[in-house]
Amino acid sequence: ARKFLLAKHFNGPPNVDDFKIIEEDLPDIKDGEFLAEAVYLSVDPYMRAYSHRMTEGSPMVGSQVAKIIESKNEDFPVGKYIAANFDWQTHTISSTDGVGTPYLLPDLEELPLSYGLSVLGMPGNTAYFSFLDICKPKAGETVIISGAAGAVGIIVGQVAKMQSCRVIGITGSDDKGQYIVENFGFDGYVNYKRENLEEQLKQAAPEGIDCYYDNVAGEISTTVIKQMNTFGRICICGSISSYNTDINNPPKVSCVQLHMLRKQLLMQGFQSIPYRNRIFESINQHLEWIREGKLKYIETITEGFENMPKAFIEMLEGKNLGKAVVKV
Ligand code: NDP
Repeated sequence: ARKFLLAKHFNGPPNVDDFKIIEEDLPDIKDGEFLAEAVYLSVDPYMRAYSHRMTEGSPMVGSQVAKIIESKNEDFPVGKYIAANFDWQTHTISSTDGVGTPYLLPDLEELPLSYGLSVLGMPGNTAYFSFLDICKPKAGETVIISGAAGAVGIIVGQVAKMQSCRVIGITGSDDKGQYIVENFGFDGYVNYKRENLEEQLKQAAPEGIDCYYDNVAGEISTTVIKQMNTFGRICICGSISSYNTDINNPPKVSCVQLHMLRKQLLMQGFQSIPYRNRIFESINQHLEWIREGKLKYIETITEGFENMPKAFIEMLEGKNLGKAVVKV
């Protein structure tokens, strides 16, 4: 098996030299075990945030869609595809409820297998259990989504449109903004890398903001929260603008409390991990919406297991549209 280790802790944005690739022999499988070969691997923002907790030399945490190529477990027969939280490695031995808590993917028929890591995987499950429950959007309300052209954001935007909301995405480029308007039904976008986000938001959301789905935190979010309407709701899904910072010297936090108390806003954080055992609820709903043509999706696929670090770095730099995935 080939596998990537965290060779040294990231200092700011990750660098290809921070990773090391090794090759190791795997033992024969025992009764109850199976051997899975990675087909697609995921690169996600949480890996950057989580790296602070890893020791140098340990494998990079990850998830993948893999094919079972050897099995002594009748629940996981040869030829089936699974999704599992396996590390950045090409081959893994696991068992029922074993390493990476694998589960069999449903038959995706015409859909790409990589969807098991995106709209039918963890990002899909995140969007499904967070947005409607926390933001409680009503028809006609204005919803702002940061990280709007990413894995989670493009789902949340389309679900918000299904609720008859006015939906504005925040993106890091005009190309991404135009893409989500033309392809995913967003009503508009603002580009946070252009001048004057505050003014752009005022123009895009002239009636103020009722729901904010936050993937990024920092100054972008302060600017959004300042323009929220009374009794607005904020779902904190991510904080990517802070992931590359030194945890011992966190960025100075902007003060949003005054706006929150004046407008009586509600803010709630979301964690997908407790919802992992309910993933088939989101998989089934998203499959239905995809097959009915109500939910569309896009992925940015990098070819080659050896390019995992590159794909990860480029995702953090914003080069991905939709979910960033690596094809072995
Ligand atoms: P994306 O597919 O959205 O990829 C990350 C994107 O973040 C980039 O493409 C880039 O887009 C944007 N970005 C990078 N740096 C910055 C920055 N400094 N400021 C603003 N935007 C930035 O990732 P996901 O959809 O997988 O994840 C989105 C967020 O949701 C992350 O914060 C992630 O940690 C979080 N998350 C949380 C979960 C939970 O359980 N709470 C589960 C899954 C994800 P652009 O070009 O627009 O800048």
